[in-house]
Amino acid sequence: MENLKAVMQAIKASQWVMVCSHVDPDGDSVGSQLAMGSLLRDLGKRVAIVNQDPVPRRYQFLDTEGMIQSQLPAGFQPETVVVLDCSSRKRLGMIGDLISPDMLVITIDHHSSLPKPNDPAYFEPSASSTGELLVDLFKNLEIPIGRKRAAQLYTAILTDTGGFRFPNTSARCLAVAAELAAQGIEPSIIARQVYEQLTESSLKLLSRALSKIETLEDNRICLVCLEKEDLEACQAPDEEAQGVVDHLLSLKGCLVGVLLREAFPETVKVSLRTRESVQANKIAEALGGGGHPNAAGYRAKGPLSHARQEALREIKKWL
Ligand code: AMP
Ligand code: MN
Ligand code: MN
Repeated sequence: MENLKAVMQAIKASQWVMVCSHVDPDGDSVGSQLAMGSLLRDLGKRVAIVNQDPVPRRYQFLDTEGMIQSQLPAGFQPETVVVLDCSSRKRLGMIGDLISPDMLVITIDHHSSLPKPNDPAYFEPSASSTGELLVDLFKNLEIPIGRKRAAQLYTAILTDTGGFRFPNTSARCLAVAAELAAQGIEPSIIARQVYEQLTESSLKLLSRALSKIETLEDNRICLVCLEKEDLEACQAPDEEAQGVVDHLLSLKGCLVGVLLREAFPETVKVSLRTRESVQANKIAEALGGGGHPNAAGYRAKGPLSHARQEALREIKKWL
């Protein structure tokens, strides 16, 4: 709670604030950025919400006004930066270049790597999501959340818990979700927006990906490699590959689901999902990435076959 007070003080003392989060946005980063930006505006601050990558289609219903931009508005000179849901400067992508040493950096996050010791940070690895932590901020600032921000924060919690299924689905996060639901949002409509408004191309991509599963080590590993051609054949943009990994752990006996997808030249994005006993973040950290105990990722060097071998070598060490 001490660190929440430091964050509140830093926010109160700031006028021009930039709100940013990680590349490859997810429901937690998008929902948290929007709710935080809106809170700051209620406090009378000048706010810019920026992200390197555009809001994925499935989360656009949260940002109907197009508040998340890829660059700062002309003349906007932030004195304070709020970094949400992002464990390293590198994960901010090009937005990291907008942060200069004279700016105050406030971090709110539930990843396990510590922010810089002297910067104000509200940091709680046991929280389900950054959205859950933002609810504490609203309460302590005594700002009503209201329906729109409740939908944003509920989506953050819903998606980071995999639809209230992952082990980070705690009593606390369910209680916070219930409080948000009481603000007049419709959980079933949000679930439909996020999970059941898929495009034809993403369903085709999922079908193609599932037809390529490799099972190894007595089904304990379930792996899919997606080549650029797979996405092209389904006319699917890269963001539509994001959800594929969540299906792999549904294989009986599977402890590690791993998706490798060809991205930029010579880069492979790797997503890991694991059961309790296997620490996804340890595997990802060993290969230059990070994340949470049961959901983590990293970027590997191509070609895909090399990244596949490297991933399997590391995963087998942790089984
Ligand atoms: P994803 O598999 O992309 O959904 O990512 C799952 C989690 O892993 C994210 O919430 C991040 O915390 C983390 N993560 C993914 N990619 C990286 C990366 N390149 N570096 C650090 N952490 C990552
Ligand atoms: Mn995230
Ligand atoms: Mn998160």
